[in-house]
Amino acid sequence: MAQLKPGVVSGKDYLTLVAAAKAGGYALPAVNVSSSSTINAVLEAAAKNNADIIIQLSNGGAQFYAGQGMKDGFKAKVLGAVAAAYHVHLLAEHYGVCVVLHTDHANKGLIPWVEALLDHGEAYFKQHGKPLFSSHMLDLSEDPMEFNLSECARILTRMAPLDMSLEIELGVTGGEEDGIGGELDESADNSHLYTQPEDVLQAYERLSPIGHFSVAASFGNVHGVYKPGNVQLRPEILKNSQALIEKQRNTGSKPLNLVFHGGSGSEKAKITEAVGYGVFKMNIDTDLQFAYSEAIGKFVSENPKAFLYQIDPETDKPYKKFYDPRKYLRLAEQNMVARLNEAFVDLGSKDKSLAA
Ligand SMILES: [Zn+2]
Repeated sequence: MAQLKPGVVSGKDYLTLVAAAKAGGYALPAVNVSSSSTINAVLEAAAKNNADIIIQLSNGGAQFYAGQGMKDGFKAKVLGAVAAAYHVHLLAEHYGVCVVLHTDHANKGLIPWVEALLDHGEAYFKQHGKPLFSSHMLDLSEDPMEFNLSECARILTRMAPLDMSLEIELGVTGGEEDGIGGELDESADNSHLYTQPEDVLQAYERLSPIGHFSVAASFGNVHGVYKPGNVQLRPEILKNSQALIEKQRNTGSKPLNLVFHGGSGSEKAKITEAVGYGVFKMNIDTDLQFAYSEAIGKFVSENPKAFLYQIDPETDKPYKKFYDPRKYLRLAEQNMVARLNEAFVDLGSKDKSLAA
């Protein structure tokens, strides 16, 4: 088994990590973070499970990291992502696991966000000889295919010399991402809910000569957690996409690096099937947000007076130990770790860390 230095991985090491996951039939959880507390919980969970991990920031998560009070919201989205990346670069190696640093969905309006991050990325590369982020994502699946691919090609051309990878999205995944929502409509054809293997082939032909990329393909997956039964997960779409490229381009098995968006609340059997078809990354956001908040809710409801009074008006008992934010944020982190313990098992990546 290949061994890597613990810490943030990029370039060749990132490819090693992806190849090991595909060959080993497992996937890495990709967790959305928005604070030092959530980042540390993810690092703790990875270390505890002897597993590698993908840490990602949405533009909203990045803005929160910089502070919602920052006047210039765009600047906050850029600087928040950069600040979080520095946090991870500094701490990850001390947790003894490999970490992929990634940014999540950027639609057409957020292309300038990705480009601003690349400005920072180029400066960082000059100084350190490695990229600030391992990869970025462009989600132009709502735009015409030609625009999607030409923009992805343009951005990847800028990323490749920095040893960075690009994640793209084809087809429309249902549900809500940072407030940008698709309606669920399971009537009739829904061909755009399910990515067409021919589109994946087209993306492969355009992008693989430029640099490394991965594909989030829609196979009925939904962002967020909704009542089951609305959309049918059809992982065989992933299998068919791999098969088409293998045949048309004479590649080895599973040439595509696939990403599973909207992993929260998915049936375990479908997850296992998708991973078998070359999914190396599964995004988990909603389930972990709930785990984090669930623990706080439980603590507050068990200790209601500590959130009303600094000192109990009847017994004079001081509540400082209860309302100190570290008390309940730690419980939130621990519950997030517990939910991630499950994810590593579901995705088969527990005890598979490549970190030496
Ligand atoms: Zn998506």
